[in-house]
Amino acid sequence: MSTSVFPRLEPRLPSVSKPIQYVGGELNSTVKDWASVDVRWALMYPDAYEVGLPNQGVQILYEVLNERDWILAERSYAVWPDMERVMREDRIPQFTVDAHRPVRDFDLFGISFSTELGYTNLLNALDLAGIPMHAVDRSDDDPVVIAGGHAAFNPEPIADFLDAAVLGDGEEVVLAISEVVREWKGEGEPGGRDELLRRLAVSENVYVPKFYDVTYAADGTIEAVVPNRPSIPFRVRKHTLMDLDQWPYPAKPLVPLAETVHERFSVEIFRGCTRGCRFCQAGMITRPVRERSIETIGSMVENGIRRSGFEEVGLLSLSSADHTEIAEVAHGLADRYEGTNVSLSLPSTRVDAFNITLANEFSRNGRRSGLTFAPEGGSERMRKVINKAVNEDDLIRTVAAAYSHGWRQVKLYFMCGLPTETDEDVLGIADLATKVIATGREVTGRNDIRCTVSIGGFVPKPHTPFQWAAQLDHETTDDRLKQLRDVVRADKRYGRAIGFRYHDGRPGIIEGLLSRGDRRVGRIIEEVWRDGGRFDGWSEHFSYDRWVAASERALAGTEVDLDWYTVRERGYDEVLPWDHLDSGLDKDWLWSDWEDALAVAADPDAVPDVEDCRWTPCYDCGVCPEMHTEIQIGPTGRELLPLSVV
Ligand code: SF4
Repeated sequence: MSTSVFPRLEPRLPSVSKPIQYVGGELNSTVKDWASVDVRWALMYPDAYEVGLPNQGVQILYEVLNERDWILAERSYAVWPDMERVMREDRIPQFTVDAHRPVRDFDLFGISFSTELGYTNLLNALDLAGIPMHAVDRSDDDPVVIAGGHAAFNPEPIADFLDAAVLGDGEEVVLAISEVVREWKGEGEPGGRDELLRRLAVSENVYVPKFYDVTYAADGTIEAVVPNRPSIPFRVRKHTLMDLDQWPYPAKPLVPLAETVHERFSVEIFRGCTRGCRFCQAGMITRPVRERSIETIGSMVENGIRRSGFEEVGLLSLSSADHTEIAEVAHGLADRYEGTNVSLSLPSTRVDAFNITLANEFSRNGRRSGLTFAPEGGSERMRKVINKAVNEDDLIRTVAAAYSHGWRQVKLYFMCGLPTETDEDVLGIADLATKVIATGREVTGRNDIRCTVSIGGFVPKPHTPFQWAAQLDHETTDDRLKQLRDVVRADKRYGRAIGFRYHDGRPGIIEGLLSRGDRRVGRIIEEVWRDGGRFDGWSEHFSYDRWVAASERALAGTEVDLDWYTVRERGYDEVLPWDHLDSGLDKDWLWSDWEDALAVAADPDAVPDVEDCRWTPCYDCGVCPEMHTEIQIGPTGRELLPLSVV
């Protein structure tokens, strides 16, 4: 049995901020009878409700699991510090928002990490839940703590706190895991927790860190990562969902009770991206491209609106304008919803005039959301290095089209700190922005043209060609951005028309530590949490000094330090902490792509751009043969089906 904590929680709700976020009962949420099922999951997004509720990954798994009559899934989110105080005072454990059951009562506790900066929130949730923080201390009564999401492609920094991790698409694998748990429970739980974890590990679906030993060389690098039991696979493979049309989720989108970061229904129109941008972990680890068909997109949009009442629909993917039938999708949906309150958005960043055509379709209902383009690099040289094949003429042509179609504002997204970057590359952003404003004024004859430049710090990520790169130190990042800001401000003619958004470089260094760290980094995370670290993705909660102090304490007496993990370039022979986790990408292919980037940095014509394998012969990145997958794209030549009668 599991008893709701709500009777204890409710009297305290008036004393915390936004209490509605802890109440549950959202439209399309599910509460099942505890005793009627065999396997129970608590699913957590390790951030506040306002960020966690809209998360597609959690919503999809919640629905996929709850569709099975023998499985129950409930949701949990990170609680704000005021609620944490209340829970500690009243000994209320981490709970689910659906039936307010203690997370510790479930068989599995699944946490989806989009960013590594959520790690301290994992530790806080475990502590509040009364689940021993270290996996080795857990008993048969504790749930299996299992991580997923993009950060799980290198879960080593949190390996000590996890029982397991899953790489890649979750839809099928959560069901496979549930089957293993059901069978083991049905047999009377033979061998306890250890046997369950062994069964999960040998199923080749799940990485169980404790079944792998890591040894270190005298210089601090990893010597080897090897299984410590028979039958445990040397490498754990990612999961790839094929035929997305068979998995049209979320079909019952959750409607939030409190304000959230996205108030819309999102339909993922394809998964994966093969444009080959060298900095992009999402693109690399989600290969190959798998499209949803136009009919499925149409019926998901219709069904989602009908069941949720949302008036905004976002067509999601890593580069939505690349769907082979996006013109038909855009035109068909714009026709279908013309004159209604439904608005459509395409959060796409491709730089070409075709995007303007799509944006025009989507603004037929009168709403004009901002147009964002992502050249990413400030100079032509930099864009060659990162394999972002956008030249200045393309960008100017695109913004000219946008301004002449009535847009008054465009946003441009860039990164600072890319490998081989110089001050001049970053100052090139100012040149580009002034040319954009000048073009806008010229094509419209107006002066109220705006361009917002948004800049993020580059963090090298595992499973990308830049996984070996030195991260730029935060002092140089901040200095380059200050130079850029000064140049923009000093420009009397155009400076006032250019908005400038950037963050300081320090959180990026900690994200870098957590992204490319190994198991020794776990001690730092725990130190930070013990020192009060929570919600590190929020600037008002993040403390760089706390992370630096914790790194010094935790790594004292070792060969490594914060700089070693971040601003150090790695060599070809170094064993990387995630080498035993198989994203399908061939390591030698990634290395030669990294070498190509360096060659192009010195001579832009040294090596041709890497094209998108959707439209060129295969580049042999390794994913399709290794994962037994294939590109699934149209055009299908089909059409959007008319609305069914409700
Ligand atoms: S194996 Fe070839 S076709 Fe498949 S994702 Fe890699 S480059 Fe593209």
